[in-house]
Amino acid sequence: MAHNARLDHRDPFVFDTHELGRRPGALQRLTRTVPAPRDFGLKGVIGVPEGTPVELELRLESVMEGVLVTGTARAQAEGECVRCLEPLGLELEADFQEMFSYPDADDRGRVIAEPGDDAEDDEDRLFVEDGLIGLEPVLRDAVVLALPMQPVCQEDCPGLCSECGARLADDPDHHHDAVDIRWAALQGLAGTMSDGEKDEMGGALPSAHADEKQEK
Ligand SMILES: [Zn+2]
Ligand SMILES: [Zn+2]
Repeated sequence: MAHNARLDHRDPFVFDTHELGRRPGALQRLTRTVPAPRDFGLKGVIGVPEGTPVELELRLESVMEGVLVTGTARAQAEGECVRCLEPLGLELEADFQEMFSYPDADDRGRVIAEPGDDAEDDEDRLFVEDGLIGLEPVLRDAVVLALPMQPVCQEDCPGLCSECGARLADDPDHHHDAVDIRWAALQGLAGTMSDGEKDEMGGALPSAHADEKQEK
């Protein structure tokens, strides 16, 4: 869908492949710094803030059926630790490779009559449009893959105290009175017992369970 939108050469994510001249084997290397678009990363978890510079290193290679793009994107990502909620920064490095096909060529570079005849086949393909390629969708996918789904401030972050919410990394000796824990355990036991009583009155299924346990 996105690749059907007309590409604009002023868009920083659009690259011109005219210099390659449709000569298989021709190669072009280039670098460009682009501003991160909105929602660049894992929404609500970690991402590159909008407008942050993203350094792109690209290698465009002309092949029979189109242009093969290999590259690396580097940027500073920001998020928060999933255990202790502390803000964290991360040097993001995302590698990607993508094939952009000439719309009038099939897989072997032969010219075909009309692109898009076989809609299902074309769905995931990206095309060179008037000599231009749009890298934004490719970069979005690469960045999402390169980011951690569960970012942590440090590998062994102990998280937050389940009793009071204190950040345990700041306070390693943090503890609560053991009495509290025993009391909690007793309360838990009482809860289980009353559940069991209810089950006895509940009908056939729970008592069948109890029989099984006794047999073992
Ligand atoms: Zn943490
Ligand atoms: Zn605590």
